[in-house]
Amino acid sequence: VPRLDRIVVVGASLAGQRAAETLRLKGFRGDLVIVGAERHQPYDRVPLSKRYLVADMTHEELLLPHLTDLDARWLFGVRATALDTVRQQVALDGGRQHLGYDGLVIATGVAPRRLAGVDAAARGIHVLRSLEDASALKAALATRPRHVLVIGGGFIGAEVASTVRDLDLDVTLVDAETQPLSKQFGSQIAAWIGKQHRRHGIRTCFGRRLESLDGTAGRMRARLTDGHTITADLVVVALGAVPNTDWLTGSGLHLDDGVLTDAGLFATGACNVVAAGDVVRYPHPLCGDPVRVEHWSNAVDTAGIAAANLLRGRGAATPMTALPILLLRLHGHQVRSVGLPTAATESAVVDGSPDEDRFVVAFSRQGVLVGAVAVNAARALPPFHRAIADRARYSVGAST
Ligand SMILES: Cc1cc2nc3c(=O)[nH]c(=O)nc-3n(C[C@H](O)[C@H](O)[C@H](O)COP(=O)(O)OP(=O)(O)OC[C@H]3O[C@@H](n4cnc5c(N)ncnc54)[C@H](O)[C@@H]3O)c2cc1C
Repeated sequence: VPRLDRIVVVGASLAGQRAAETLRLKGFRGDLVIVGAERHQPYDRVPLSKRYLVADMTHEELLLPHLTDLDARWLFGVRATALDTVRQQVALDGGRQHLGYDGLVIATGVAPRRLAGVDAAARGIHVLRSLEDASALKAALATRPRHVLVIGGGFIGAEVASTVRDLDLDVTLVDAETQPLSKQFGSQIAAWIGKQHRRHGIRTCFGRRLESLDGTAGRMRARLTDGHTITADLVVVALGAVPNTDWLTGSGLHLDDGVLTDAGLFATGACNVVAAGDVVRYPHPLCGDPVRVEHWSNAVDTAGIAAANLLRGRGAATPMTALPILLLRLHGHQVRSVGLPTAATESAVVDGSPDEDRFVVAFSRQGVLVGAVAVNAARALPPFHRAIADRARYSVGAST
């Protein structure tokens, strides 16, 4: 068991807070320091693409509840800029300060991907990750733009488009894939989601890339690869996210689309360093390959395992085996996912039907169940959850 007098957590959001709470709940009595680039106490990002945009919701209502008294030193508005794994020090704010550690939790999450070469701030182009991003988008929506263009039909783009339609504004949703979300959910669910968008009055331009975006704030013109042009007074870019690992360059940690770890969430290339949340890429037993999952449940589960393992030491670590779960709300419908549909090689509708807006799709990989997605059928999921956890043999036939 390592001797840990001071543990530093970098990233003061969902994974960072939950890791810190687990450390205390598991008996850590030493010095606990939490470093966060944002100026806020940890808050929930989940409502930012949903209720926060359309309803009166205060910042206080977004704050994450505390599970225990942390007795920690919080450094808000402070950025970690480098890591020295030999001296066991984190450099803060460009090296003006150094913080020593015996144990380190990396929970720096992800940042939204931006359009290269476009001065987004000057042109009023929005992204959505932080409270500030959401407040800026909410204020812009309150001016009742005539036409909103959402670029990217993944989880956040789809939710934003749906929420903007709830405000009865005109929306076009553009995505380079012919069936956005099919990588995440398979073609049956993706086709159903595309249909819902159109049924609810969203203009969809799928299978076409954005070629250029010109104009000034309030009067933007997007040109797609097929020559089609769209004029919009508000543009939201939702092209996915990239892990916040710049500050770890040169640290010796293995970085590859996130912080690579072993199954116990110990970073490879250093001692007493664990990672959790959206930034960690770890081998998942369902597929054997390293996965990085940007879901609330994964942030909570990895934070708990990483913190407990840091206290136990690498030799006694337990592997991260929890199944990711996700709830998406689109046009008044609920889409729930469990497991890793992304790892599947086959999928099939196993209950209900897309035409009834109530169905379940099961996903298997080499004859083993790895995921299930339910549309308006939440009660059908628990047996799948258990079967996936038990690695039930299950061949669903049709190819995804
Ligand atoms: C709009 C939106 C809607 C979402 N909806 C859902 C949903 O419906 N369901 C679901 O399961 N998930 C949803 N998610 C995803 C969920 O919010 C994330 O999985 C979760 O926030 C991950 O937590 P995290 O702590 O790992 O990372 P983050 O929440 O990204 O936090 C990382 C923190 O680290 C800080 N940081 C970064 N670099 C540094 C540095 N160098 N030094 C110090 N601090 C640093 C960042 O400023 C940030 O505060 C949504 C996300 C967004 C943005």
